[in-house]
Amino acid sequence: KRQITRLPEWLKTPVPVGENFKKIKHDLRGLGLHTVCEEARCPNISDCWGGSDKAAATATIMLMGDTCTRGCRFCSVKTDKAPAPLDPHEPENTAEALKRWGLGYVVLTSVDRDDLADGGARHFAETIMKIKQKAPAMLVEALTGDYAGDLEMVALVARSGLDVYAHNIETVEALSPMVRDRRADFRQSLRVLKAAKEEKPSLITKTSIMLGLGEREDQLWDALRELRKIDVDVVTFGQYMRPTKRHMKVEEYITPATFELWRQRALDLGFLYCASGPLVRSSYKAGEAFIENVLK
Ligand code: SF4
Ligand code: SF4
Repeated sequence: KRQITRLPEWLKTPVPVGENFKKIKHDLRGLGLHTVCEEARCPNISDCWGGSDKAAATATIMLMGDTCTRGCRFCSVKTDKAPAPLDPHEPENTAEALKRWGLGYVVLTSVDRDDLADGGARHFAETIMKIKQKAPAMLVEALTGDYAGDLEMVALVARSGLDVYAHNIETVEALSPMVRDRRADFRQSLRVLKAAKEEKPSLITKTSIMLGLGEREDQLWDALRELRKIDVDVVTFGQYMRPTKRHMKVEEYITPATFELWRQRALDLGFLYCASGPLVRSSYKAGEAFIENVLK
């Protein structure tokens, strides 16, 4: 196969700018919060943090440590069978810091913790409850793992007061075993999204798919139809980018026009909204999209 060595123009990213971005970055200092946005040097940081309105600004926070019990072939997070114990103060401290930061929309995500009996679901839910107590106006999206298929744990998080329940299927069913950790499973992920919706039908459910892994069009159509069958509300598409040479290689750089086509197709299938583009991550401008499509 042809080796892809050069990045197409549309993936070369500009330096973050914007007054609001600078202000939010300044506010963040001293709060002890670690954002995925900064730590992963996300190219969208000025879009997410830098809109004209802080109420719509979005940031992503990683809970439960920096070490995952899984090893997906696209992901650069560290892996270990026995990560450090949870910090019992994390829910309170995170909520307090977010309240002081005063951001409009937070995406909470975490590593997978298969070493814990509840997969960390109680810790996750407690963090959401504390945020909603301290900062009731803040919109909260949880991007969770699959809790190894334990739907009681999914329900527990779904009941915690959050606004959006996100769980990523990452890729089409046929590629799932090659792309995701062997404990993940396409059907299991659908069950997670379905359980969240059933537990609280007013919740917005959301998932994300990486393109460029070699998925075929018909496989992508099938995945989208499966998601709509279980009432998933939101889908996002982004380009898979290889973190290091030890990770899966990029099969294809999808053009911006094709991303736009899939966005249209998703809307035609009945998704409430869809962010789609080469640099889009599942949390991309999530606050703005929620305010425009759900609250208005
Ligand atoms: Fe942060 Fe996600 Fe936006 Fe990147 S896409 S800046 S990680 S909120
Ligand atoms: Fe990365 Fe999530 Fe997979 Fe862990 S479960 S390796 S954090 S994608």
